[in-house]
Amino acid sequence: MIHDIAIDGPAASGKTAVGQRLARRLGWRFLDTGVMYRALTWLALERGLSPDDANALGNLASANPVRLAASGPDAGQPENPVEIAGQRLGPELYQSRIDNNVSNVSRHPPVRRALVQRQQEIAAESANAVGGIVMTGRDIGTEVLPCAGLKVYLTASAELRALRRWQEMERRGQKIPLATVQSEIESRDVIDSSRSDSPLRQANGALLLDTSGLTLEQAVDAIYRRARGI
Ligand code: C5P
Repeated sequence: MIHDIAIDGPAASGKTAVGQRLARRLGWRFLDTGVMYRALTWLALERGLSPDDANALGNLASANPVRLAASGPDAGQPENPVEIAGQRLGPELYQSRIDNNVSNVSRHPPVRRALVQRQQEIAAESANAVGGIVMTGRDIGTEVLPCAGLKVYLTASAELRALRRWQEMERRGQKIPLATVQSEIESRDVIDSSRSDSPLRQANGALLLDTSGLTLEQAVDAIYRRARGI
């Protein structure tokens, strides 16, 4: 019986939509770790810290744990606010200024140490409370949950990922040209995949799932079946 599923992949590959539905189907918790890096980036910008200042950012992360405002299968999804330094944050986490700085903030080892430790605690709590967790990010199968019962690497073409993110932004009322969205996600992918500490990569043994030709339900189903061994 497994109690954790790690889903990694590049920006806008569908990790959140897939992970959230999968967690609901399993009755487990869901944690999109991207919201934690986004919340820290929001606080760093509020405090006027440079995205290059590794030590100051690491101290900021250790002193200000990110709290998830909800619990249960829907905890930690982007629509549910997270709390940092007494501030509740939701849609603010998806502003362009966050998109444009988050990968630079996230590349520093002291930042990663602080957040990874918290993510591991949340996984342990979830296994006890509801039987398991689906966690999405860039380093979940490689660093956060290296012994996860199932590891998945989700991907899709850059064009499709940009289109999906652009549609999501439209729904939130953000009007940004598609080409700008595509170049923003591509530049985040470059930083996330080339950083020295826990770069984005397919973990050993991870199931590679290209969602380009799949519906959301088909992608969820493929992972659910693998998890249940059916
Ligand atoms: O998943 P999302 O696009 O919201 O993640 C935002 C950014 O947070 C990523 O581009 C990456 O820089 C960082 N991140 C990370 N490790 C994770 C999750 C997110 O470095 N596990």
